[in-house]
Amino acid sequence: MQINAIRGFSDILSEDAALWAEMENLAREVFGLYGFEEIRVPIVERTELFKRTIGDTTDIVEKQMYTFTDLKGDSLTLRPEGTAPVVRAYIENKLYTVPVQRLFYFGPMFRYERPQKGRYRQFHQIGAELLGELAPSSDAEVIQMLEIYLDRLGLKDKTIEINTLGCAACRPAYRDALLLFLKDKVEDLCENCQRRVEKNPLRALDCKSAKCIEATQNAPSTIDHACAECSEHFNGVKDTLEKMAVTFEINPRMVRGLDYYTKTAFEVTATGLGAQNSVAAGGRYDNLTKELSGPEVPCFGFAIGFERLAMLLNKENFNKAKKVVLIALGDDAVTAALKKGGTLDTLREAGLRVIFEHSEASVKSKMKKANKLGADYVLIIGEDELKEGTVTFKDMEKGEQVKTQLSDIIKMVKA
Ligand code: ATP
Ligand code: MG
Repeated sequence: MQINAIRGFSDILSEDAALWAEMENLAREVFGLYGFEEIRVPIVERTELFKRTIGDTTDIVEKQMYTFTDLKGDSLTLRPEGTAPVVRAYIENKLYTVPVQRLFYFGPMFRYERPQKGRYRQFHQIGAELLGELAPSSDAEVIQMLEIYLDRLGLKDKTIEINTLGCAACRPAYRDALLLFLKDKVEDLCENCQRRVEKNPLRALDCKSAKCIEATQNAPSTIDHACAECSEHFNGVKDTLEKMAVTFEINPRMVRGLDYYTKTAFEVTATGLGAQNSVAAGGRYDNLTKELSGPEVPCFGFAIGFERLAMLLNKENFNKAKKVVLIALGDDAVTAALKKGGTLDTLREAGLRVIFEHSEASVKSKMKKANKLGADYVLIIGEDELKEGTVTFKDMEKGEQVKTQLSDIIKMVKA
C-alpha cells in the first residue's frame, strides 16, 4: 500500500520551495537592515512552556497541541508558535545581559486544526521579536519593518489593523465589563466559548464561529477601558506610524489568540485568502519574560504565516533564473563538457543554471527530454561544434537556433 503524508501536513515542492527561499532571503535582508539577527530554537519543548505562556484556556493549548510523553515520561509538545521558545532561549542563555535583542526565527509550527485553504497542521512562520524596548516608537518600527518586507515582496491589498489590549492595571476592569456584557448573551455563544466565558471572556472576541461574531458585535472595546499608561502608549504607536507614513486602521474588536499580549496588538490581513485572511499578527508582550521566571523585559513581536503569504504572491515574479540543458553528442564532446574547466564548468562559473543530459539517447530524444525538463535554452555540442570551437544554442520558446561561441551564449542567457 502506498504511504501518504498525514492530514494537514504537506510537501513543499520545488516551485514553491524556490519562492519560499526568496521570501526567506528577503526577510533576512530586510530584517537585517533593522538590526535583527537569526535565532534557531528547537521544534520540541516542554509542554509547560506553552501552557504557561499562551494560556490554559486558549484554543491552541486546549485542543490544538501535539503533545506526547517521551520515553522518560516527560510531557513534550511540538511548538505551536515561536515566541515562547524564543523567550525561553532568551532567558536560558541570559541574552538579557545585552540591553536590547532583535531576533528573528523561521520554521515549522504545529497545531491540530481543521485543515482547509490557508490552514494546516504543520505550517511555517517567520517571526521577529524585539526584546528590551518599552517605547511605543519601537512597536511602530517593527510594524514598519513588516510593512516594508511585504511591500518589497509585492503584496497588494493588505490592511494593517491595530488595537490596544490593556495591561495588568486595566485588563481586569475590561474583563469585568466584557463579562457583564456577555452575561445575558451566554446562550448565543458557541459551546466552547460558553464553557470558558467565566475564565477567559476575551476568547469570545477572537472566536471564528458565526455565533460568537454576532453575539459580540457591540461588545465594550478595550480602547475605551485602557488606563492612562496604555492610552498614552497607544497614541504613541499611532503617532509614530503616522510619521512613518504607515497606513493602518484601528480595530477595537481585535484580540489575539494568545493570552500573553499586552498593550499593542496588530494584524495584517489581505484579500485573496478567503476566510483565512490573516497573513501576519503580533503585538507587545511585557509580562512574558517574568512569567517564565526571567527578569522583567518589555517585548514586541510578530509572526508571518508563510503558506498564506506564498499563496498571495505571484510565483512567476520569483525564481527568474533561466534553465539551460547541455547535450553532448559522442565521447569527445562528453569529455569536453565534463572535464575540469570544460563547458559545464565554464557555464556554471558564469552563474548559469545548467543541467547536463546524461543519457546515451539520440539527439531527437535528448531534445524531447530537455523540453520535458522545462529548459529555456538547449546547448548542443557535437563533432562539428568541437572542431569549430562553437556551441549550438537553441531558444526553446522562440524556436530559434544559432551556432556561436560559448562566451556569446553566456551573454545571451544572462541578457
Ligand atoms: P488565525 O486567526 O487565522 O487562526 P492566528 O491568530 O491563530 O491565525 P497567530 O497565532 O497569530 O495566528 O499566527 C500568526 C500567523 O500565522 C497568522 O496570521 C497566519 O498567517 C499563520 N497561521 C496561524 N495558524 C495557521 C495554520 N494553522 N495554518 C497556516 N497558517 C497559520
Ligand atoms: Mg488560529
